[in-house]
Amino acid sequence: MNTTLIFATNNPHKVEEIRTVLKNSFTIITLQEAGINIDIPEPHNTLEANASEKSKTIFQLTQQNCFSEDTGLEVAALNGEPGVNSARYAGEERNFENNIEKLLNNLEENVPRNAQFRTIISLIINRNEFLFEGICKGRIAEKKKGENGFGYDAIFIPDGSNKTFAEMEMEEKNLYSHRKKATDKLIQFLNNYGKN
Ligand code: IMP
Repeated sequence: MNTTLIFATNNPHKVEEIRTVLKNSFTIITLQEAGINIDIPEPHNTLEANASEKSKTIFQLTQQNCFSEDTGLEVAALNGEPGVNSARYAGEERNFENNIEKLLNNLEENVPRNAQFRTIISLIINRNEFLFEGICKGRIAEKKKGENGFGYDAIFIPDGSNKTFAEMEMEEKNLYSHRKKATDKLIQFLNNYGKN
């Protein structure tokens, strides 16, 4: 089944990551390619509700099959923060450097540094919504390392590696990545969709 889906994001890093995973199985159209130029709202206090809001907003505009994703970094010693506020942790300007600095400052010495990235994908297909979750467990590094990726990549070390995500090429990040795990579930679902 060749499915065309609009990916409801304005983040080019996410588009690249998801296109790497979906390869030729599905045609992904970005918001820009679909001619949609809006800043999609993320007003809720859960990843699930924000992902839903994004895909429903794009579905209402286009009436086409689409999906969105919302991701948060959940740090155990900070009671799950920044979580759903990951993008705006240090302020509305959504600055990656400031977010990292605030997070490192808030993590006191000698507290456990375990954390996880959690991604929720909301798919709307034939007017029905389905949610998929991907989790990557790991820990927060003492200081920034690496130049690749985006967001908190430079301070997140996934379990099973000694490198931060920012020290990895995309293929290596995808061995661990939350977004890859959620996307794998999306692919599996789409591959089986309509077969029963
Ligand atoms: P969003 O609200 O889903 O766009 O993402 C929230 C924030 O989480 C982003 O602005 C990034 O700072 C961070 N983030 C999301 N995914 C990743 C990732 O794969 N690596 C590092 N940071 C990420």
